[in-house]
Amino acid sequence: MKDRFDIIVVGGGHAGCEAALAGARMGLNTLLVTLRADRIGFMSCNPAIGGLGKGQLVKEIDALGGEMAKATDETAIQFRMLNSSKGYAARSSRVQTDRAKYNQYMRDCLLRRAGLEILEDEATNIISAKGTCKGVVTKSGRKIYSSAVILTTGTFLNGLIHMGLGHFPGGRIGENACNELSKNLRVLNFNVSSLKTGTTPRLDGNTIDFSALKVQRGDRHIIPFSFSRTELKLRQLPCYVTQTNKKTHKIIRDNLDKSPLYTGVIKSRGVRYCPSIEDKVVRFPDRSSHTIFLEPEGLSVNEYYPNGISTSLPVDVQKDFVHSIKGLENVRFIRPGYGIEYDFVDPTELYPTLETKKIKGLYMAGQINGTTGYEEAASLGLMAGINAALKIRGKAPLILKRSQAYIGVLIDDLVTKGTNEPYRMFTSRVEHRLVIREDNADIRLMDIGRKLGLVSKKAHSYMKEKKKNVMSERRKLESAKLGQILKRPHVSYEDMLRVDKALKPLTYYEKVQLEIDIKYEGYIKRELINIKKLEKVDLIKIPPGFDYSSVNGLSNEIKEKLEYFKPYSLGQAARISGVTPAAVSLLMVRLHSKPV
Ligand SMILES: Cc1cc2nc3c(=O)[nH]c(=O)nc-3n(C[C@H](O)[C@H](O)[C@H](O)COP(=O)(O)OP(=O)(O)OC[C@H]3O[C@@H](n4cnc5c(N)ncnc54)[C@H](O)[C@@H]3O)c2cc1C
Repeated sequence: MKDRFDIIVVGGGHAGCEAALAGARMGLNTLLVTLRADRIGFMSCNPAIGGLGKGQLVKEIDALGGEMAKATDETAIQFRMLNSSKGYAARSSRVQTDRAKYNQYMRDCLLRRAGLEILEDEATNIISAKGTCKGVVTKSGRKIYSSAVILTTGTFLNGLIHMGLGHFPGGRIGENACNELSKNLRVLNFNVSSLKTGTTPRLDGNTIDFSALKVQRGDRHIIPFSFSRTELKLRQLPCYVTQTNKKTHKIIRDNLDKSPLYTGVIKSRGVRYCPSIEDKVVRFPDRSSHTIFLEPEGLSVNEYYPNGISTSLPVDVQKDFVHSIKGLENVRFIRPGYGIEYDFVDPTELYPTLETKKIKGLYMAGQINGTTGYEEAASLGLMAGINAALKIRGKAPLILKRSQAYIGVLIDDLVTKGTNEPYRMFTSRVEHRLVIREDNADIRLMDIGRKLGLVSKKAHSYMKEKKKNVMSERRKLESAKLGQILKRPHVSYEDMLRVDKALKPLTYYEKVQLEIDIKYEGYIKRELINIKKLEKVDLIKIPPGFDYSSVNGLSNEIKEKLEYFKPYSLGQAARISGVTPAAVSLLMVRLHSKPV
């Protein structure tokens, strides 16, 4: 194997897959170093992609030329559009996938990719000189050099697995932790601390009494994730719904003295929005039950993921409380649940390109940035891969705005505010969600993906066709004075089709787009004016190396903050907590810009 590449990606999880593919697809010699090649694209937790706020990320990844949406469509066993009774801005797709097939699809995709090599090894050290990254050292003693290194190490850095009061090192169950790299990052002076997450036991479907449970089927009308019009191949499966009960809660309460969470053994913060069953029972003592979704793991295994009972209690207690649940009275465990603590690096150590401020050419993406979730990881991996490639090519970076993409919000939140708990995406984090939605991710981002060389001509042509169809039917509606009627609540484009024979049937997303454009025309116009105003400050760039100490009137505290964050624009400076409007005005004057 060569010892020099353009880009080295460390870690073959969801972030690493997108980063490595983006680098190779943009024509750079890329190496993926990962612990196990058979685990490339492996889902550590539940076999599902998307969900509220996350579906939008997956659509954006697809529009920019990433792989996650295609992998999901190819391996999907259940599709659901969440919040379909609510407004369009709140809707998100969620898909159950076949875990083994997803893993295989991603691995094959990377193995087949020209310009991408894969090395099964552990990266232990970063090679750097004079503040610039030069490559990595691996456990087998190799020194491999590159212009950029992207770390996507997930839950593996200093990973410690907890089951009851016992714990042992591990990156996830059955896989080793990586401690050397974590040590090296501390030596390099990165601010490393730890977070916690957890997962549920896996259950043998042959021993579940499904006859006692409510069936939850997927949508009949399936809308694939990818804008490339992927064909769905697999048989669709239902999920099942059951509930915890008073007895379950009593067993859990009676055993809290054996819980690493409630005895202080686990000290790190966990995912607030995806709490363990122990947390739910303690935090909501008035609730007598919590819902559990039994999600199939795939077509070729009779295994279920009981979504809602993530736990790090001892295995015998896990069995006791699970057996108290309807339908699971005689269930056999395939694997127990567990909690895991792992190291992450403070994401305020990163520029919005995901390059570290301390070491040029070193990027970080995925769970190492303090996020949780496959979708967040893949979004960050894709952006790190793109930006590393652009930098090597001497081109301007790609920084998506908050008003342009959920990915823009995700990165801006992380690098500007940091996080002290695992960060997951929500629609509520996105202030301009009326204009950035799942249905228009292609319109918003595909031109960018095409320009980068990541989106195929065919996929791009579908987007142009969609734009054209929406425009032409809108014109017809307006000239026939039907636009005003479509504005009314409960009137849909389908109703219009019945009235005006000149109108053409549209695809689901074309219809959604047209209805939103017409029904919310006034709100959208106002929102766009608002965005323009806000963006004016983002357009005022702060040159790298700007000397904040020379700005008269700034307090020392604010100077220190700005020096630490190194904002790329006045807009980012204004979003840093503690930077006052007065400080922003002083900076604006110093940057020789007119007030907005
Ligand atoms: C127990 C558990 C529970 C979880 N629960 C949830 C949940 O409830 N909700 C949710 O959204 N997400 C959950 N997740 C998180 C989800 O799995 C991650 O967010 C996602 O997988 C992160 O993707 P990633 O690419 O950053 O890292 P990972 O998918 O963890 O992949 C990391 C990759 O890096 C490789 N690697 C690590 N260090 C090195 C090294 N030094 N050298 C070479 N290779 C290395 C590993 O082999 C692996 O391939 C959970 C994860 C675990 C382990």
